[in-house]
Amino acid sequence: DPIVVVIDGPAGSGKSSVSREAARRLGFELLDTGAAYRALACFAMRMGIDLDAADVPEQLVPKLDEFLEQYAIALHPDERWVRLGEDDITEAIRSTELSSKVSAVARIPEVRATLTELFRTLLHDTAAPGIIAEGRDLTTVVAPDAPVRLLLTADEAVRIQRRSSEKAGEAAQAVAASVIERDRKDQQVVDFLNPAEGVTLVDTTHLNFEESVQRTIDLIRA
Ligand code: C5P
Repeated sequence: DPIVVVIDGPAGSGKSSVSREAARRLGFELLDTGAAYRALACFAMRMGIDLDAADVPEQLVPKLDEFLEQYAIALHPDERWVRLGEDDITEAIRSTELSSKVSAVARIPEVRATLTELFRTLLHDTAAPGIIAEGRDLTTVVAPDAPVRLLLTADEAVRIQRRSSEKAGEAAQAVAASVIERDRKDQQVVDFLNPAEGVTLVDTTHLNFEESVQRTIDLIRA
């Protein structure tokens, strides 16, 4: 059976890049669950749904099957495309505007239930020796029985600094504010700052990228 590894954590914890590099070195697949929530937000915006409006659930929930038909994502760690039908939305889902609106989609219970089902299928169907799935609620909701469950964190100042340096040209202040705001909104839906029982906490505050990858791989191999 493939080894299922699940990693949660807030924005800027290093979770995405560390998971990707660990998957590469282990020959595992990588499932970026945040990209699915982002793709759904992108889909909603393209359908003309106003994500600031109160009726997002009524507008979006009936369209979830249509989204699932169109949505496709790379699972190989060296590839990072996300598509809606023929459209490549890899870049579009990283925009500042979309990042600020994705929480409005992620807090809808039917959305979470639908994507959770999708993630479980993808974890189950992997043909690789293992798969790393990363997000916010993998250790607690999507795969609480996974053999390896990690929570990557870092002090807020460090997380903000990592995020601002990712976004060249954009005012660091604006990035800082948006990271804090998004974590605050997301934290109301799932707790990804405190490890659930049986989940190993990896604090990357004082670790560089290579050390974080090594520590993660050591925990997977343990
Ligand atoms: O990880 P990333 O920043 O790409 O996630 C984008 C958004 O998707 C988060 O801000 C959160 O609202 C949502 N998300 C979630 N549950 C997950 C992964 C992401 O609610 N497992």
